[in-house]
Amino acid sequence: MSKEVSKEETPQPERTIPLAKAAICHRCGGDKRGPFVPCKACGYTPAGVDRQVAWLFSEHHLDPTELTEAARRLRAGDPPEPPRSLVEHARVQMGAAPLGTDARRRLTTRQLLGVTLANVVLTPLVGLAVWWGLQEERPVASHQILRVTLPVAIGEALAWLLLIASWRLR
Ligand SMILES: [Zn+2]
Repeated sequence: MSKEVSKEETPQPERTIPLAKAAICHRCGGDKRGPFVPCKACGYTPAGVDRQVAWLFSEHHLDPTELTEAARRLRAGDPPEPPRSLVEHARVQMGAAPLGTDARRRLTTRQLLGVTLANVVLTPLVGLAVWWGLQEERPVASHQILRVTLPVAIGEALAWLLLIASWRLR
């Protein structure tokens, strides 16, 4: 079972309930091993707010009978449109679940060095893109990215300004 656990659902020793909860894909109604893993039927991987919708279509929120019924309705073409309050409920519940530890996880020195190198060799846009991408789900990691990216971005901006200034003086 443990090999089915997705990256988001890192095993927690204190948890006694099964880690990978059954879920259905809220795009196609197909069965999934967990709410956040890619759907084998349609390839859809929930991202952003859709992760909260995906959580609602899993055993975290529905019992097996309700899941089967939800899958039937999705396959019949019913759009997955849970009310805002329910999506918010999912968000809070997910924060208290294993995702919370993932959100606090820091990047390794190697990962940070990789981004710093890409910032210097390529463009600081790399770091800014990673920072933007991680903002919602990994605030700590995204802050680390910003700390290594901003100096490079500011440094390059200054270098350009100096270059332009030197051209004008000619
Ligand atoms: Zn699907």
